[in-house]
Amino acid sequence: MLTLLEAREAIAQRLVRVQRTQKVRLADASGRILAQAALAQVDNPAFDNSAMDGYAVRKSDLANTRSLKVVGESACGSAPAALEPGTAMRIFTGAPLPHGADHVFMQEEVSVRDGLAEFPSGNSADPNIRHRGEDFSQGETLFEPGRRMSPGDIALLSAAGIPEIDVWDRPRVLVFATGDELVAPGNKLRPGQIYESNRVATILQLQALGADVTDGGTVRDNADEIRTTLRDARDFDFVITSGGASVGDHDLVKGIFAELGSIEFWRVKIKPGKPLAFGRIGERTHFFALPGNPVSSLITFKLFVEPALMAWSNTPFLEMKLNAIALNDCQRVPGRMEFLRARLQTQDGQLKAEVLRGQGSHMLGTLRNTNGLVQVEADSNGFKKGDAVIAIPLTLYID
Ligand code: AMP
Ligand code: MG
Repeated sequence: MLTLLEAREAIAQRLVRVQRTQKVRLADASGRILAQAALAQVDNPAFDNSAMDGYAVRKSDLANTRSLKVVGESACGSAPAALEPGTAMRIFTGAPLPHGADHVFMQEEVSVRDGLAEFPSGNSADPNIRHRGEDFSQGETLFEPGRRMSPGDIALLSAAGIPEIDVWDRPRVLVFATGDELVAPGNKLRPGQIYESNRVATILQLQALGADVTDGGTVRDNADEIRTTLRDARDFDFVITSGGASVGDHDLVKGIFAELGSIEFWRVKIKPGKPLAFGRIGERTHFFALPGNPVSSLITFKLFVEPALMAWSNTPFLEMKLNAIALNDCQRVPGRMEFLRARLQTQDGQLKAEVLRGQGSHMLGTLRNTNGLVQVEADSNGFKKGDAVIAIPLTLYID
C-alpha cells in the first residue's frame, strides 16, 4: 500500500500532460490555462493622463501668481491642444494631459470665477498624473504559461489590447457510477436500494476545474455493462468511476481497468479512501476508480484527482495547508494518514479547528458543517484540545 505522497508521485510519473492548445476569445477564457506567454500590445496607461477631475497647469506658471485663465478642455477620448503658457486647462479623470502641463489640481481645491481659476497656496504634493507605461509597457510579459485565468486577469489582457489567448485544451473526462443498489433521486426506493450521490458531486467538481465532462450515468455491477460504458475510454483524457474498486465479489471496476490498461496502484494508506485505483489506458487515458463511500469519493477527488488534473493541464497545484489549534480532543489508532472533517474558524486572528462528530465515510450529513479537513499523520495517535494541527481549507469562507 502506498502513502499519500507515494501515490501522488506514482500519478505524476505516469501522467501524460496535455499537448493540444487552442485559441479562445477573452470572454471564453475564464478558468482556462494559458499555454503561451501573453505580451502587452500597448503601454498602460497609453498616454499621460489626469488622475482627477480638475485643472491642468504648468507648475512654474504659479511661481508668482495664484490665478490663471482657463483655456480649453481635455475630456476623455479627445486629443487636447497644448497648454498655452500662463493658462490652465479644464481636465477630467482619464483625459490626456495636454502637452506642457505637469500638474493637475483637483477641482475641489480650485475656485473658478469669470474664466479665471484661483489655485491654493502652499504645496500640493501629488501632481495627480498617471504616467504612460507606469502600469506595464508594450512587449512586457503579463502572464507566463500555466496561469489559470481569472476574471481580473482577463480584464488585464483586455486593457493590454489582447483579443484572444492560447490555452491548453480542457481535459475530456468520462464519469460514471457503479452499483446495483444505486437509484437516482426522484425514484421510489425498493428494499436495499439507496440514492446515488457521488456522480453529481464528481461531475460538478470537475466542471469547477474547467473539465469537459461526459456523464456516463449509473451502471450495474455487471462486467459487460461496465465494459460497454468504457468502450470509448480511449477518447477521454480521464475516466473517473465511483464504487466497485474494493475487494468484494461485486467490485468489478478495478479488474476491468486491468483488462483495458494497466493499474499503477489500487490502495492508498489514507482514511477515508483506501480503495482507490489509478492507472492508464493506451497513450492518452488516465483512470481513477474512486471509492463508493460518498465522503471517500469527495476526499480522494480532492487529494488525487484535482492535483492530477492540474499537472495534466501544465499548471501548478498549490495545496493550502494551514496551522490551526485543535478545539477538541481526538484519539485514534495509528496506521493510516487520516483526513477528518472539521469546522475551521478564526478566533482572535488564530485559526481553530473543531473536529466534527460523525466521521464515518458514509456520513454526508457531517458535510453541512465541514469547511475544511484536519490532516493527521499516519503514526499519530491523535491530539488534545489546544494542540497544533494541520488544516486544509475546503472553502474560502471561514467564519
Ligand atoms: P463500493 O465502493 O462500491 O464497495 O461502495 C461502498 C459504499 O458506498 C457502499 O455502501 C455503497 O452503497 C456506497 N456507494 C457506492 N457508490 C455510491 C454512489 N455513487 N453514491 C452513493 N453511495 C454509493
Ligand atoms: Mg459497489
